[in-house]
Parts: sequence; structure tokens; C-alpha cells
Amino acid sequence: MRKKVIAGNWKMNKLPNEAISFIEELENYVKDSENEVVICAPYTDLFYALNMAQGTNIKIGAQNMNWEEKGAYTGEVSGEMLKSIGVEYVIIGHSERRAYYNETDETVNKKLKKALSLELKPIVCVGESLEQRESGDAKTIVTTQTKLALEGLTNKEVEDTIIAYEPIWAIGTGKTATKEDANETIKWIREEVAKNYGEEVANKVIIQYGGSVKSSNAKELFEMSDIDGGLVGGASLVAEEFAKIVNYNK
Ligand code: PEP
Repeated sequence: MRKKVIAGNWKMNKLPNEAISFIEELENYVKDSENEVVICAPYTDLFYALNMAQGTNIKIGAQNMNWEEKGAYTGEVSGEMLKSIGVEYVIIGHSERRAYYNETDETVNKKLKKALSLELKPIVCVGESLEQRESGDAKTIVTTQTKLALEGLTNKEVEDTIIAYEPIWAIGTGKTATKEDANETIKWIREEVAKNYGEEVANKVIIQYGGSVKSSNAKELFEMSDIDGGLVGGASLVAEEFAKIVNYNK
């Protein structure tokens, strides 16, 4: 049985004092959840969020990292830096980073390998645009992104990777994929993993859905056979709303 992982992606939101009060509030709401609860915060909030999350069941993640250990890469943050302060998760290849900061399948693959080598838990995002969905290319796009992201990984590393299926047209738009479409697409991704790494690995890989998840649709999505939780943007900014998503099965 795969665990449900519900991860909030704050994007470029929240100052440290806001992060602190959010974690303080969330902690009470989610303390009895059997689901994995993750908050992916901006770099400047990480230290504060980690301090507040100590002794709770809330895990802290970053939203990006560089694949190099150190050096002349102005403005970048390495996986080693994240690991050194106690960060456990890292989002890799979010569609906003692919669209605005030239992330490619190749850089996603490099970052993923580096994160896994440091035992950071990666959440790798894949997903098609509206145009690609409408022209019938969604399957090719998501399976190709999945294959290229995971290229060169061992079976164990693939098992340790979380994949987030995030249709670009559903991110921040209020439009959610139907639970059937989301489940079908996630099955395509799982089949791609099975093709390259075997059924056993594919059955263990956690694959989330992301794209306008909120408390009103979380239950129907997360109860589908292949959807193992969600990556949540906008609805993760308010503790009570995010807690309802985490507690969708209560
Ligand atoms: C995201 O940022 O990964 C996301 C899914 O955003 P939203 O929930 O706001 O659509």
C-alpha cells in the first residue's frame, strides 16, 4: 500500500513570520494524520520552518536546487546546503521553472540524481500544456518527461522518487483535471516506470496529482486507484484549508 503524500508548494510566498505562524497552526490540525505532510517553502523561510516543525509530523522541503555541490554559481543553492540545515524534500522541474527559468529534461535529470545521492526526497514534476492535451499528445509528453527525468537511476532510486503529475493548464487556474483523466494519466506514467524498471518498482512509486487541488476536490482525487496524494499550490497558503486537504480521509 503506497502512502499518500500531501505537499504544499508555497512558491514565492510568505515571510519568515508568516511561515512560523502557519506551521504553528497547521501542526495541531494534522498531528494525527497518517498521510505524509510536507511544506515546500522559499529558501528564506526554510530555517524558520524547520525549527517550528521540529517534533511535529510536518516535513520541510525546498522548491529547487542546483546539481553542483559548490562553486561560482551566483544565486544558486546546492542540495548539500539544503541537507545541511535538515531539509528533507525538494521539488524538481516544476512547470514554472521549466517555463520561466529554462529547466530542461536534462537539468531535471541532473538535479534528481544529485538529490537522491544526498538522500533528499525529490518531487519531480511532469505535465502537459492545454494545447498538448487538446491535440492528443498528453501521453507522449508525460511519458517522455518521466523517462528522461529518471534516466540512469537505479531501481531503488526510482522507488525513492516522488513524481507529481501536474497538467500545466490546471496549475493556478482553478481548473482541475477530472479524477478519471488524472488517474488515467498517472497510470500512463506508472506504465512507463514499469516498462523501464519493472512492475515491482512501478507499484511502489508515489505519484501525486497537482493542479488546483483544494479541500472540495481532494477526496475524490486522492481516492482514485493511482493517485497517491497531491502537490498543492494556492490552497497550501492557508493552514486551515491545507489541513482539510491533508485530512481528506477523516
Ligand atoms: C503547484 O504549484 O504545483 C500547483 C499545483 O499549484 P495550484 O495548486 O495553485 O494549481
